[in-house]
Amino acid sequence: MDPQTTWDMLLRAWSRREWDDVLDLSQALLDWLGKGGFPPETNYPTELGSDWNVVVARAACEFALRRSRLVLDDPNGIPADVPFVLICTKCLHEGPESFATAMKQGWANIQYVPAGASENFLGLCCRCRNRD
Ligand SMILES: [Zn+2]
Repeated sequence: MDPQTTWDMLLRAWSRREWDDVLDLSQALLDWLGKGGFPPETNYPTELGSDWNVVVARAACEFALRRSRLVLDDPNGIPADVPFVLICTKCLHEGPESFATAMKQGWANIQYVPAGASENFLGLCCRCRNRD
């Protein structure tokens, strides 16, 4: 295993919200580190040392593994431990404070977006949905 390649793939999978890959890659890197394998450079190109990289890689992988499981285990892909802040992708209208209410109001295509600026979920509000 090349832990640097795995780490880079994990970050790419996270940013693309490819949760199956996030789960597999974080588990693979945790297994590798658990066997004493050398860590990836987590803050490339800054070299902070092997001890730092082991701790950062392990913590990030455990977080990514837990979060990807929550997304994949929920039938709607909504992780239960993330505050529900929803924005419409078309009109930027802010949605209600829960997934259930958003569904009742007719929102569609609600997706978890971990890299959002202030929102954690993107969707299509009922007004924009009816306009299409
Ligand atoms: Zn809208």
